[in-house]
Amino acid sequence: MSKTEDSGVETPKADNFIEAIIKQDLAEGRIEKVVTRFPPEPNGYLHIGHAKSICVNFGLAETFGGECNLRFDDTNPAKEDQEYVDAIKEDVRWLGFQWAGDIRYASSYFDQFYQWALYLVKEGNAYVCDLTAEQASEYRGWATAPGKDSPFRSRSPEENLALLEKMRAGEFDEGHCVLRAKIDMASSNMNLRDPILYRIRKESHHQTGDKWCIYPAYDFAHGQEDAIEGVSHSICTLEFADHRPLYEWFLEHLPVPAKPRQYEFGRLNINYTVTSKRKLKQLVDDKVVAGWDDPRMPTISGMRRRGYSPAAVRNFCQSLAVAKTDGVVDMAQLEFFIREDLNDNAPRAMCVLNPVKLIISNFEEHINGDVQTVAAPVHPGKEELGTRELPFTKELYIDRADFSEDTTLGRKKFKRLVFGEYVRLRSAYVIKADEVIKDAEGNIETIIASLVPDTVGESPPEGIKPRGVIHWVSASHGKQATVRVYGRLFVHEAPDRGEENFMQHLNPDSLSVLQNCWVEPSLADAAPEGAFQFEREGYFVADRYDHQTGSPVFNMTIGLRASK
Ligand code: ATP
Ligand code: MG
Repeated sequence: MSKTEDSGVETPKADNFIEAIIKQDLAEGRIEKVVTRFPPEPNGYLHIGHAKSICVNFGLAETFGGECNLRFDDTNPAKEDQEYVDAIKEDVRWLGFQWAGDIRYASSYFDQFYQWALYLVKEGNAYVCDLTAEQASEYRGWATAPGKDSPFRSRSPEENLALLEKMRAGEFDEGHCVLRAKIDMASSNMNLRDPILYRIRKESHHQTGDKWCIYPAYDFAHGQEDAIEGVSHSICTLEFADHRPLYEWFLEHLPVPAKPRQYEFGRLNINYTVTSKRKLKQLVDDKVVAGWDDPRMPTISGMRRRGYSPAAVRNFCQSLAVAKTDGVVDMAQLEFFIREDLNDNAPRAMCVLNPVKLIISNFEEHINGDVQTVAAPVHPGKEELGTRELPFTKELYIDRADFSEDTTLGRKKFKRLVFGEYVRLRSAYVIKADEVIKDAEGNIETIIASLVPDTVGESPPEGIKPRGVIHWVSASHGKQATVRVYGRLFVHEAPDRGEENFMQHLNPDSLSVLQNCWVEPSLADAAPEGAFQFEREGYFVADRYDHQTGSPVFNMTIGLRASK
């Protein structure tokens, strides 16, 4: 069992085949220290799948007393941006991890990569190829048919060196030629059919500016980055399994300072959402959501804004096996950890989401002054957190759904206020609904009720049987608040795994904004990102950006119970 510091939640340890490999490597003396890395490309914000990768990489380093680097795999300037670099750093830190030393950038090794490209050329292991993209794909063959050699494959090292220098100097247009490794055009592994090492890209880079106009391919960069950093176990997702022979080919054919090894595990997918930066970017660009950190997004920043705690996200990730197959995890599994954490840690509060006024007709008869302060526990399971004070006043709000005029409703079925009957206001009096005032259309405007004296913290007299307990907020002392309630972003279980475009499965009702909610007074002073259980409603968080004392804004995190 593992226990995370800031949550009391215990999670059974999930299977992790990489742990077994590391144990053996240490036992056999193949490595002395575990060094891992989390290598995002800064072309979008991180999502829940990345959270798993972060937990795996930083987690293994922690388990074995090693180190984990944060490295930006920034080899493609066209899609990358400093905004993403900054957001990714913040997300990793928020999740509770600290990388070893400084942030690393693939781009800071560009000089070294270029030296190694020259090395391959001199050794006769790389050549400049002038085939057009179309021709190159034709020459490449397909999975079941071998490719054929490019007519430029036999260029001499001297000729290649001169051409590569020209590529680098910007003398050719984009697409004019590429640098390729000379491996095997007949290999059954397509990745070994003379893969591209460098492309011409006349783009400014967010880290290196205009220093380069040729950029290394991912495959030519990744293993060498690992070698430079002394990474012992380079952990990536399954789609890179076919790239492993190439990863190893570069390490064999270059004078690298170390020989890291690559291991692949299954990607995390969750139903009812998408986990691909490209698709998430489309949701942002098409303004389907308010931004990368919209609380409906499965991004780390979205989950944060939704009110998920870092500990809950980590507990979820740690509950998942690290296996050699891709899997789809039920959203309910993530929600289980969110709820468990909040149930343990969120202070209780009252909020009326859909208010109707309730007036205590006999208030003055029983209470001196305008207000009686009643006490309620901050957390029913944690007495040590003490109590909070609630102003009980003549005019209150209760939720419309907690009142019915239908006197035939069974007591079991409707444990709330019914006309002519009793209910307890949580932490306050037992009251009886005596009268209903309606507007011209017949909508209930006000409920007139009477309190039963001496019932705060005490049972009512014999014969008075409240149907249940409901929440309330003082109309004169409570604060008006905006509450955003979220539904699933997609109505389809597998939005991006069918025939249709994933955008066709969007849920048109994924956001409702309730502007006339009422919260107990102290909630207006809640710190941004403060999480609460609104009693009988669910878990809510003070919005990180929009919540202010003068205009409280809460986001719904999750309901109290899993819906069936
Ligand atoms: P996306 O498809 O969302 O763009 P990516 O794999 O291109 O993801 P990178 O920035 O390259 O994103 O990923 C950084 C690391 O996170 C990689 O090691 C990658 O394997 C891992 N990763 C990405 N998505 C997932 C996922 N769904 N589950 C587990 N690990 C993931
Ligand atoms: Mg990628």
